Amino acid sequence: MVKWFNTTQYKFRVDRYEEVDRQLQALGISTDKVRSVILTHLHLDHIDGLRHFPNTHIIVNKAEWEKPYGDLPQLYPAGFSPELVELTDAYDVFEKAYYVTKARDIVLVQTPGHTWHHCSVILKTEQSHVFFGADICYEQTQVIEDKYSGANASHKLSKDTYARVRAFCENHKTIYIPSHEAAAADRLTRLQYVVA
Ligand SMILES: [Zn+2]
Repeated sequence: MVKWFNTTQYKFRVDRYEEVDRQLQALGISTDKVRSVILTHLHLDHIDGLRHFPNTHIIVNKAEWEKPYGDLPQLYPAGFSPELVELTDAYDVFEKAYYVTKARDIVLVQTPGHTWHHCSVILKTEQSHVFFGADICYEQTQVIEDKYSGANASHKLSKDTYARVRAFCENHKTIYIPSHEAAAADRLTRLQYVVA
């Protein structure tokens, strides 16, 4: 059912300048300078840009790889073989975590619901935390107001993840960035923290 939906029910229009390589270029970053790419989950709109990173180290939660939800492997680049990491640590309210850097300032945390093992990436800076929440919700207000965002593998897991994200944001100054919310970029520039 999910596969039928993903392959027949919509079409994306992505202009060339909107693709990730051009977006990075505009910021003065070349794709071959990117050391690692972290995939939060395997949905088509999160993996389609992989073709711009043919030699880059790609990280995926092993559990997500082994039990994907609504993935489209036919869109993976040829010979795609990411590093599968196990989230055996814990971080704050998140029971499953993986420290990406030695400095422990980039953390992959399991935030399930949207898919069974969906992940988010938390970047710790001196001023605050930047929480890349991927598709936990589509707009920050959904998580703050506890409004179900739809399109989830599990409502129950999603609700639990919402509660953990709110708890995290109560304890830490956090800028929350869902993948699909245009206003998130503004919050990052203006350092607008979540008030949960
Ligand atoms: Zn998704």
